[in-house]
Amino acid sequence: MKLPLAAALLALAATLCHAQIPEPDGGPIRSGTLPLTWQTGGPKCMEVPEWTIHEYNPDLYILRQSGCTDYEKPFIFLFFGKDKAMLLDTGSRNGDLVPTLERTIHNWLTRNNRASIPLIVVHTHPHSDHVAGDAAVQAMNDPAIPVTFVPPTVADSQKFFHIEHWPEDYGQVDLGGRVIDAIAIPGHSPVSIAFYDRQTAILFSGDSLYPGRLYVADFAAFQASTERMIKFTEGKLVAHVIGNHIEQTRTAYLDYPIGTMYQPNEHQLEMTRGDLLELEVGLLSLHGVSARLALADMTIWPVPVSGIMRQETKEHFDARQKEQKEHMWDQTGAH
Ligand SMILES: [Zn+2]
Ligand SMILES: [Zn+2]
Repeated sequence: MKLPLAAALLALAATLCHAQIPEPDGGPIRSGTLPLTWQTGGPKCMEVPEWTIHEYNPDLYILRQSGCTDYEKPFIFLFFGKDKAMLLDTGSRNGDLVPTLERTIHNWLTRNNRASIPLIVVHTHPHSDHVAGDAAVQAMNDPAIPVTFVPPTVADSQKFFHIEHWPEDYGQVDLGGRVIDAIAIPGHSPVSIAFYDRQTAILFSGDSLYPGRLYVADFAAFQASTERMIKFTEGKLVAHVIGNHIEQTRTAYLDYPIGTMYQPNEHQLEMTRGDLLELEVGLLSLHGVSARLALADMTIWPVPVSGIMRQETKEHFDARQKEQKEHMWDQTGAH
């Protein structure tokens, strides 16, 4: 027996409005897996590749730069649609991304009996730890992988993703049977963008939400952008919220000091829409006053708009870097 149409539509609307599905059966999204732990930067740097490649599913790869090459050890993301591939960020300094990127794409082409696929290169934001591979990727010159490079500026992002009013409007890009939404989220940086992959229902939040220190340059904009991500995801399934770094340990309210290479007990990468709501509550509790606030799995951390470290922070950071580099070949027993 069929439900009357109106009742069926009502049921569908209720499902869509609450981002819920009637059964815990995986839902109408493409699933994938995430590792329990990631390689970070050790304990023996001789053994650690520059990039760890994780196959979330056959059309989404998460790559992490080794902490042995740079303490930032960012995550970058490679999506495949029917017509195009998309690389989100190019990593930090000393990443040497191109050989790993080319090999991954060529493996995908072989696996899919394809000769070539155009690659779009976009960014979560233009900080140096996410764009350091830009020049090398643009110079790749691989006939199987023609590159379209989108510079990480407001004007270029508006044009490419069709965002009419920045930051209020949402934009998108279609990779061929795979639409990815672009949500402007200035605050950490003036050009921050979050991406929602409709196929996997993952929200990629860049440096604006991850287990670690959420550096806030423009508090009012950051708060408005958090609200924008919440509004955008309302009524949508959210499998994971995935950001660009892990700086938090597995112990609540405890992060690794800035500059840490090897993080053997780090927090998992993936967060949830619940974490986004927790961030919202944390921001609201500050009543418009930009201040540091530690939450269990992340910290709201105001920084000067210039991005320049305070002298005291810089001295700590330099000392930490020196100590880490001295021990990078054998950090067994390090914490
Ligand atoms: Zn950043
Ligand atoms: Zn970053």
